[in-house]
Formats: sequence, structure tokens, C-alpha cells
Amino acid sequence: MNKLMTDVHEILLTREEIEDKVQELGKTLAAEYYDKRPLLVCVLKGALIFMADLSRAMNIPLEVDFMAVSSYGVSTKSSGVVRILKDLETSIEGRHVLIVEDIIDTGLTLNYLIENLKFRKPASLKICTLLDKPSRRRVQLQPDYCGFVIPDEFVIGYGLDFSEIYRNLPFIGVLKPEAYQ
Ligand code: 5GP
Repeated sequence: MNKLMTDVHEILLTREEIEDKVQELGKTLAAEYYDKRPLLVCVLKGALIFMADLSRAMNIPLEVDFMAVSSYGVSTKSSGVVRILKDLETSIEGRHVLIVEDIIDTGLTLNYLIENLKFRKPASLKICTLLDKPSRRRVQLQPDYCGFVIPDEFVIGYGLDFSEIYRNLPFIGVLKPEAYQ
């Protein structure tokens, strides 16, 4: 048993459940975008692993690009103001853009990102999130594609971190309180 595993309280979604869902989403998205050469925008760092698997489950021509955002800090997070740490390298004007997210919680980060990207006049702009915690939502925001709706618990693994670790767990789990206390 490795150190990462001993910090896991319970497994919420197994590696197999995630794999099946990603394949299913990939098929749906490939049908939707088959002649559109979509630009998949990965929101770093949490969506890194989902993006890698999802893009390979989409058997069509597509492009990828990356954005990194950060909240201005605890006191301003509620305002939904985020800072762009890394912007896209590609112009998205006239492009079919699919934002690939790890999790939507309050929705504030993604809401900001969407407003920002809309200004750049994409032909279409949709959201695909692996996880959704709708009970915590603070803005009206509905993903176009969603892997799993989960309860209000802090999850780790498959790209999601706690203090920058646990991203490399192959499943999604809940952290033991001892690991962060
Ligand atoms: P929002 O602006 O929707 O509240 O925040 C979204 C971001 O918060 C996600 O992209 C993720 O980085 C982080 N986040 C929200 N819930 C969780 C969670 O349960 N686990 C982890 N590791 N990060 C989370």
C-alpha cells in the first residue's frame, strides 16, 4: 500500500468507472464535433488528466490549448474575479471551443472564464466537466456535458489535488481528515 492510498478515506469513483464515462463522453463529443475541428481548452492544472484521456477518446481532428487561472484570494473569491496566469496561444474567433474542466463547484471561476472567452467571438463555446457539485453553485451555470454529479465533498485524484499532491491517483477519492489536519 503506497503513501497516497493510505491518505484516502473512501473511493468515490473507481478507475474503471472513470474510464467508461470518459469513453462515453468522447463518443458523444466526437459525434457533436466531427466536422468542426474543435479547440479543446484545458483549464490547468486539475483538468490535465481528464483532457489527456478525453481527447484520446474523441476520434476526430481536434486541437488543444491550455489556460491557467487563479483566484485573487479568499476575500475576493466570492466576487468571482480570477487572474489569468496563462492565456491561450490560439485565437478563438470563429472557432468551436470546448472548455474542459475537472470540477464545477461554486461556478465562479468558470463563469469568469466564459465571460472572458465570449469576448473573443468563438463560433460556439461549450463546457465539458468531469465532476459537478451543483449543491454549491453560486451563479447560474450548467455544463453542456458532465461526467458525474457528486455530493458536497472535497475530492482528490485524477488531476484533482490537495496542496498540489494526489493528482496522480488513478481514481477519485475523499481525503482522510488526518491528511490535512
Ligand atoms: P469554483 O469556482 O467552481 O468554485 O471552483 C472550481 C475550482 O475549485 C476547480 O477547478 C478546482 O480547482 C477547485 N475545487 C472545487 N472543488 C474541489 C474539490 O472537491 N477538490 C479539489 N481538489 N478541488 C476542488
